[in-house]
Amino acid sequence: MQKEMDLNAFKKEAEQKLAANKTLGKNLRKVKPRMLDELFQEAHFETFEKMDCLTCANCCKTTSPIFKQGDIARMAKAVKMKTAVFIDHYLHLDQEGDYVLNEAPCPFLAADNTCICYESRPTACREYPHTDRKKIKQLINLSVRNTLVCPAVLNIFDKINAKLNS
Ligand code: SF4
Ligand code: SF4
Repeated sequence: MQKEMDLNAFKKEAEQKLAANKTLGKNLRKVKPRMLDELFQEAHFETFEKMDCLTCANCCKTTSPIFKQGDIARMAKAVKMKTAVFIDHYLHLDQEGDYVLNEAPCPFLAADNTCICYESRPTACREYPHTDRKKIKQLINLSVRNTLVCPAVLNIFDKINAKLNS
């Protein structure tokens, strides 16, 4: 395993680059949708080829996934709880009416950065940080916000920026 990521250094760098990444986000909205998907997908795969999420887990440490009903049923089964008890114990509704975790770090995150419910984890965890999704234009604002959470997304923005300016 690679050595643990320096998340304080990441946070500092992400904050320093936030204004530029917001501007980049605005400019990316002018790119044709298919070209934009390709730009993100290429940068996403190049980044994750080298990224070891087990050195990071900052998403699990600082944010909550959305839990849909299917996620709740699967996770409750994995930890041998009734669905209602699972909700009572771990979740609340946010302002958009979605179930999210009561606390961060996620209670299912182990000390070695693994997920103790990995096979049953919510779809939002499987898909995070969403940068390989089609119709990425709809997720530009979210992706700019995720540069503050996910070192991979910060790297993806760096790559796209370099490509557009080359
Ligand atoms: S998805 Fe991003 S924030 Fe989550 S562990 Fe991987 S690099 Fe870190
Ligand atoms: S359920 Fe697992 S993958 Fe999802 S946030 Fe919690 S520890 Fe991370």
